[in-house]
Amino acid sequence: MRVAIIGTGFGGLSAATAAEKYGLEIVQIGPSHFEYLPSLAKILSGRKNSEDLIVRPAFRWDLIPEKALKVVEEGNKVKVVTENERVEADFVILAPGSEPWMPVQGVSPLYRVSHAREIKRKLDKVGKNAKIVIVGSGLVGLEAAGELAWTREAGLTEYEITILEGAPELAPTLPCWKVRSLIAKLLRKHKVKYYLNALVSRIEDGKVISKDGKEFEADVVIWAAGVQGPRIDVPCATRARRGFIEVDEYLRAKGCKRIYVAGDASSSKSLKMAEEAMRHGWYAVLHMTNRKREPYKPFLSSQNPICFITLGPKDGVSVIRKIAIPGRLAPTVKDILERLMISMAKKAKMRPPIPV
Ligand SMILES: Cc1cc2nc3c(=O)[nH]c(=O)nc-3n(C[C@H](O)[C@H](O)[C@H](O)COP(=O)(O)OP(=O)(O)OC[C@H]3O[C@@H](n4cnc5c(N)ncnc54)[C@H](O)[C@@H]3O)c2cc1C
Repeated sequence: MRVAIIGTGFGGLSAATAAEKYGLEIVQIGPSHFEYLPSLAKILSGRKNSEDLIVRPAFRWDLIPEKALKVVEEGNKVKVVTENERVEADFVILAPGSEPWMPVQGVSPLYRVSHAREIKRKLDKVGKNAKIVIVGSGLVGLEAAGELAWTREAGLTEYEITILEGAPELAPTLPCWKVRSLIAKLLRKHKVKYYLNALVSRIEDGKVISKDGKEFEADVVIWAAGVQGPRIDVPCATRARRGFIEVDEYLRAKGCKRIYVAGDASSSKSLKMAEEAMRHGWYAVLHMTNRKREPYKPFLSSQNPICFITLGPKDGVSVIRKIAIPGRLAPTVKDILERLMISMAKKAKMRPPIPV
């Protein structure tokens, strides 16, 4: 059985590791490097270089280092089209992650290593007194704010940091309501200003302008206000809100028979987190080889959240089910996970810590 795996992130590498274990013929399509996204904020503060978070996995199977453009089912086969190749396989696992959703011009997204590197370049150009506006107070926005606030506390900068949140509450997408009051407290402690109901409508003359006409001065505007589904053309698939690919209970793209979707690209109920992406990739292989017939059961979901939000190297919030714990636990756990995941990616032996 031949499987084509699109993407070389958490979902794609985990799927490939499972496919190797069960003796499938593998062709992987995507960049020849793996990016460790959960530590992107550390690039902004200079605690990490981009090279620290990019590794070249030891692929033991065919790799086509190109972007997949189209995936089409034809009879009992699936065809993946890239700029220079046509790949045929019995099954496809789509794991291209998501893309930043940016309805406003003139902002800098923070979703890939290249984005973090570009923001760092801009910050260095403006200098130590930069006024930074972060749009969005989800995991990415909070970690960016915390990391930049740490540069001020460490005496490296005098950054003025402001978070603009369009919703009436902080961190509206983070599970566990207990987090919100804690986050508000921590932002005040780290002198990060925040405004709620501040829907950004445009950027003009170095100012961020909200829908209700308020203006916020900004040298750099970091966009951390959401993601959208991948742009790969999959004619048999149906798309959910913002272009995420709808999946059935077995993680197959709805409307397709031989295409599975793993990780952030799917509209599955799992949280969009690395652990779930790895579990999806592994499960897809188990299902296509008839080793698992029962529907996919997420481990991390809004009913069962476990996440670690860092605010620099010494502070943060850990969410473990209904409990939210402030302090050093979050950065400590994330540092351990960073070492573990990067080492698994290097070896191209990625498997979910919580088995499927
Ligand atoms: C700043 C930040 C902080 C985060 N913090 C955490 C955290 O603390 N804990 C946690 O669990 N999760 C965290 N996440 C989320 C986590 O990184 C994602 O859930 C995870 O990366 C999803 O894995 P994936 O395989 O679906 O996608 P990705 O890891 O994004 O991998 C997708 C891969 O597909 C490639 N690709 C894209 N398009 C194509 C194409 N057309 N053809 C071929 N290849 C393609 C990409 O280049 C990439 O290699 C964070 C994310 C960000 C951005």
